[in-house]
Amino acid sequence: MRKRVDFTLSDRWIKQADAVLMQTYARFPLVLTRGVGATVYDINGKAYLDFVGGIAVNSLGHCDTQHVAAIVQQAKALLHVSNLYYHIPQITLAQRLIAHFPGKVFFCNSGAEANEAAIKLARKFARDSQVIKRPDRFEIIAMQGAFHGRTLATLAAAGRRQHQKGFEPMPRGFTQVPFDDCGAIESAITPKTIAVFLEPIQGEGGVRVPSPGYLSAVRRLCDRHGLLMILDEVQTGMGRTGRLFAYQHEGIVPDIITLAKGLGGGVPIGAMLATSRVAESFTPGTHASTFGGNPLVCAAAVSVVERLAKPAFLSRVKKMGDYLQKRLMQLKTRYRLIREVRGVGLMVAVDLERPVASDLVKRGYETGLLLNKTSNDTLRLIPPLTIQRIEIDAMIDRLEEILQGQSDITLEAPPQAAP
Ligand SMILES: *Cc1c(COP(=O)(O)O)cnc(C)c1O
Repeated sequence: MRKRVDFTLSDRWIKQADAVLMQTYARFPLVLTRGVGATVYDINGKAYLDFVGGIAVNSLGHCDTQHVAAIVQQAKALLHVSNLYYHIPQITLAQRLIAHFPGKVFFCNSGAEANEAAIKLARKFARDSQVIKRPDRFEIIAMQGAFHGRTLATLAAAGRRQHQKGFEPMPRGFTQVPFDDCGAIESAITPKTIAVFLEPIQGEGGVRVPSPGYLSAVRRLCDRHGLLMILDEVQTGMGRTGRLFAYQHEGIVPDIITLAKGLGGGVPIGAMLATSRVAESFTPGTHASTFGGNPLVCAAAVSVVERLAKPAFLSRVKKMGDYLQKRLMQLKTRYRLIREVRGVGLMVAVDLERPVASDLVKRGYETGLLLNKTSNDTLRLIPPLTIQRIEIDAMIDRLEEILQGQSDITLEAPPQAAP
């Protein structure tokens, strides 16, 4: 009887949602009302340990005191002004980012928009820098299994047929080659190619980590052929992998990078950074965004960047990521359902022997644990970067209970206690 009252409360909101919201998401039946750290609460007061983190967005966890204070302070001073004027939060945020990627910044509101801006800048740069007019030079080589957003150009770049279906025609000028195969890129280069566009680690593609040396090889290839190297760091950036940007693991410098997700710690902001040489092609009137980098979101992002660019913060991300992977590897030795554990920093995937990720995610939220999947074979763990060791332990305990529930695949003699 007690349960029924709770159920009705969220159920009523869910019914209303379905009447007024477009059905673009297959949502879980949770109505979330507040959060603190790595825990969110639903309308019934039930707590959930959050290993989704808004899909790698809540980098400082929920309602971090300093982050909230920065937002409140800015909201009281100046919420928005047009990009016809200067304001200090935007300049400050650009300075903080440029300290780590020497170049210039264009601010926008999302990952897809940052990638659109990158595509436009690459095309404009190619047009500006050619001596002989070649209007057909605009092709960009992207990767199979990529995800760059849901606008038309980013759908065309990623090349996933199931995302494009029904929305044709796609913008021209993109081709896809297998990820983690530098030879495939080289074979695809034509006189029309202007850039190579990829994620340092494929996120939506299932946390695909390329072989060591791959990004450096792509960099050398781009240099040899005069191509721009564009990295989509929307998911891998902002400390997620234990470095501020994932490409830093390989000691290279791309020509363009895109950021969003974790950058604002929960406020909608995207950024496209380019080396100064390339950035020159964006002149007044060539590109714009009304909300792009407004005072509110920039103040929020400054407070995020100042925290997570600190070496101590980043090494903690690496440490917690290693710990998370170690604990998952321990589960793997005991549960046949776990095929592989992989990832870098706090971007971790668990491949399953059977396509039951949906069941695990469902069992997860029923028992107070938010999990994410990239396909029915792969769970993805992308918790707040501030995740604590005891929270990782708690998640592992719950995941183990869920795995035990999948009785047919449990090895005999499950362990008594975690080592
Ligand atoms: C999430 C994501 C995007 C799209 O970002 P939106 O803010 O949803 O437009 C683009 N690229 C990568 C790698 C992403 O993970």
